[in-house]
Amino acid sequence: MKTIIGLEIHVQLNTKAKLFCECPTNYGHAEANSNICPICAGQPGGKPMQMNGEAISHVLKIASMLKAKPELDKDVFVQRKHYFYPDLPSGYQRTSKPVAKDGKLNGIGIWEVHFEEDPGRYELKKGFVDYNRSGVPLVEIVTAPDMRSPEDAREFLGKLEQYLRYFNVINETEVGTMRIDANISQEGSARVEIKNINSFSNVYDALSFEIKRQRTQIEQGVKIVQETRHFDENSGITVRLRKKETADDYRYVPDPDISPISFSAAQWKAAADAVAELPDARAARLASQYGITPADAGVIVIEKEFADAYERLVKERKFDAQKFANWMRGPLRKQLNYRNLLFRNSGLTAKHAGELYEMFSTGQVTDKAADQILIGMLDTDILIKARESGAYVELRDTPRNVANDLGLLKSSDSGALKAACEQAVKENQKAVSDYKAGNAKSIFFLVGKVMQKTKGTADAREIEETIREMIG
Ligand SMILES: [Zn+2]
Repeated sequence: MKTIIGLEIHVQLNTKAKLFCECPTNYGHAEANSNICPICAGQPGGKPMQMNGEAISHVLKIASMLKAKPELDKDVFVQRKHYFYPDLPSGYQRTSKPVAKDGKLNGIGIWEVHFEEDPGRYELKKGFVDYNRSGVPLVEIVTAPDMRSPEDAREFLGKLEQYLRYFNVINETEVGTMRIDANISQEGSARVEIKNINSFSNVYDALSFEIKRQRTQIEQGVKIVQETRHFDENSGITVRLRKKETADDYRYVPDPDISPISFSAAQWKAAADAVAELPDARAARLASQYGITPADAGVIVIEKEFADAYERLVKERKFDAQKFANWMRGPLRKQLNYRNLLFRNSGLTAKHAGELYEMFSTGQVTDKAADQILIGMLDTDILIKARESGAYVELRDTPRNVANDLGLLKSSDSGALKAACEQAVKENQKAVSDYKAGNAKSIFFLVGKVMQKTKGTADAREIEETIREMIG
């Protein structure tokens, strides 16, 4: 039996303000119903402002990256889609006609790309509604029914997310920034829509369950009805919500408060230029141009800014391309991932990364100290506070200053190192006699003691050699 799957993906755009007003979009970090105004709260007389330019620029980039054909110089109407639910204060959702059509990603056709505004958030059980999210800009991407399995859907969504993240067009600081409706049928049977799935892994699970359910019904001779279902992530099953609504049910009408928008050839060209090199192509280029491994190149292109920093520093500071790649994807990425940060919102700049790597690669600080400097830079009180509130703060301190403050610059003073070794030997005579008795490992105990005394500023190999000479 052939399975047919198409997806409608709603993604929150990375903008500071909402789509038709100037309220901020950081809804998750703000007190409920604090980021609202008469426009996004749907109050009488609250007329929408001009569409947010930042949102427009992101959507044109997304359409270009999906190779969709622009609706060039055509009037794109914003429509009202009517339905009643407490999260929708005006009684309609504003959604635009397609801005581009007929694209392709990962072999899957893209039917269209358009704007939407997000509704608020309604908690059914508590009867609580928060309009902070109401009016937040979304892009909706509608695929052709080209997927044949949950694996196809997972692969497509993974690629889409990679591209959206790389170009920084998606809001990743809030929860539920990506929601997916999946249309799924068995060839020759009615289509079922699973609404509002909130993560990729849930899409996979929902589709897997729904395929089994539909096939079992067909095998038992039960007709599949066209309907809308909900995926319950706790039980892993889909349940019937309602009979499928049609476009007529929503009574679409052009919004009389908003003049149709058209996008010029120049706007489209700027968008196409901004996404001219896709992350996969850039990874391949980095690997061949700098001779680094494809795996390293793949990690470096996780964000455009990260890849930009890599290339700029290799060129300007003449870093060893492979060694620097190792450091960026290893120790640097590790500290970022641990804090769930992207490079672009960490506060670190290419300059910081370059200065720190230079100190490390020229032996001014040990690898351990380089880690501590990163931690010192990323975990200041101001930065931790900013991260909690969803704000961005650029770091003011340089790696060298932090190294100085923490006393991490490697001591070039061999006298001090020698003194620390002598003291360690004197205080740990048992380890010394163990070493002399043939227990080679005892020397590492002494090295550890000296590292403690010098707070990681001395090189382990140098310490080991000095002690060996002393007690050898
Ligand atoms: Zn507002």
